[in-house]
Amino acid sequence: MKCMICKQGETMPGLATVTLERGPTVVIVREVPAEVCRNCGEYYLDEAVATKVYREAEAAAARHAEVEILRYAA
Ligand SMILES: [Zn+2]
Repeated sequence: MKCMICKQGETMPGLATVTLERGPTVVIVREVPAEVCRNCGEYYLDEAVATKVYREAEAAAARHAEVEILRYAA
């Protein structure tokens, strides 16, 4: 699909590093399958993947972690 951020690049399947903040907690999830723009590097998660990533972030926030770095597990 066409990138919505730069409106120039096409996206390709790849892996993204997703950073989320939940209050004082920063959660970094690596190797998340995503569509990645070849031009600007913006990534797009499909709904199932996004839901899982957000759930991981909520769990880390519930543990009161300050920074948590996870690897996406399908
Ligand atoms: Zn782009």
